[in-house]
Amino acid sequence: MTDAELELLIATRRDLHQHPELGFEEFRTAGIVADRLRAAGYQLKTGVAGTGVVGTLKGGGGPGGTLLLRADMDALPIVEKTSHNFRSRHPGRMHACGHDAHVAIGIAVAERLAKRADRLPGEIRYVFQPAEEGLGGASRMISEGVLEGVDAALGLHVWSGLPAGEVGVVDGPQMASFQDFTITVTGRGGHAAIPHETVDALYVAAQIVVALQSIVSRNISPLDHAVVTVGSLHAGTASNIIAGSAVLGGTTRGFSSATDSLLRTRVTAVAEGVATALGAQARVEFAELVVPPTTNDPALAALVRQVAIEVIGPEFVRSDPSVRTMAAEDFAEFCTRVPGCFFFVGAAEESIGAVHPHHSPFFDISEKALPVGVEVLERAAVAWLTGSAASASVSE
Ligand SMILES: [Zn+2]
Ligand SMILES: [Zn+2]
Repeated sequence: MTDAELELLIATRRDLHQHPELGFEEFRTAGIVADRLRAAGYQLKTGVAGTGVVGTLKGGGGPGGTLLLRADMDALPIVEKTSHNFRSRHPGRMHACGHDAHVAIGIAVAERLAKRADRLPGEIRYVFQPAEEGLGGASRMISEGVLEGVDAALGLHVWSGLPAGEVGVVDGPQMASFQDFTITVTGRGGHAAIPHETVDALYVAAQIVVALQSIVSRNISPLDHAVVTVGSLHAGTASNIIAGSAVLGGTTRGFSSATDSLLRTRVTAVAEGVATALGAQARVEFAELVVPPTTNDPALAALVRQVAIEVIGPEFVRSDPSVRTMAAEDFAEFCTRVPGCFFFVGAAEESIGAVHPHHSPFFDISEKALPVGVEVLERAAVAWLTGSAASASVSE
């Protein structure tokens, strides 16, 4: 990468970082993406799933497959607490997951691919997606047709769990599913000193929280992976009143649909059973928005691994299981429908304080991740297109 390219890449990321926009409100970001892609020669569709941008680049190098590349654009409702001079200028909004880096990398890759388009077979569909953070942006884009005619999909995430200069990519699940649930416990409120005339919903809720932890330890195989977390519990109004109701909010994570359905069944049975045993009722509801595991196609993962080795060397390309995470990503929506690969670009750098987890108000990335992301994604795209042309000519 030339110095000028790197300078532009960093400047783009810092500009986006200063102007974070929440899901489905990425108007400024989408405008920047559209201007740069249009100037590079892409055919554009804007307003896809609200604020999404889809750029099409037809190669001049003959027939081949269609490859979807995806960057997510949204920020989070967090007050940024870093001390950067390019920190968020919008209190209460922050690029605390690194999607500013994804957009900057995406634009740079799109521009590089456009420069060599006359020699590339096949077609690039570059998708800049709104609302990844729990709002269903990917599903909405798919329902508006972005996957029509697509043969494979690639995406990346800058990752605080890996040192800058490394890339992590596994075969199979790279990230987990998520299913959020709400449990409403109904008892009978009353006087704190006369408990035998009440059904204490707060006590029942506490027992449910504890019992739910038996699912991972006693229902899921020790060789599998799963998480059950209760993240909120609201009950009661005063110390001398027994609560008549309680509401718990939680989430489950898993690496397969079989695990997900077992988690659903067990969360429901445990909550209802504990409540009934203690004289209360529990109503368990799973949220409509469910994200499946982000599962990498082994052939595409091998391709990404190969180009990553060319860019950064084999010692910096990780494919051991510890690279995976139980966090979820709606890129999963693409790679459950077409072969896909989602890889991590290491972004941690202790010496500059880039050590905080995603979604922390102190979250920061090492900008060394940016050129690595560009080089690996661009080369992977070229390798895939070229390979797809080879297989197209074989089948002709
Ligand atoms: Zn995130
Ligand atoms: Zn993210």
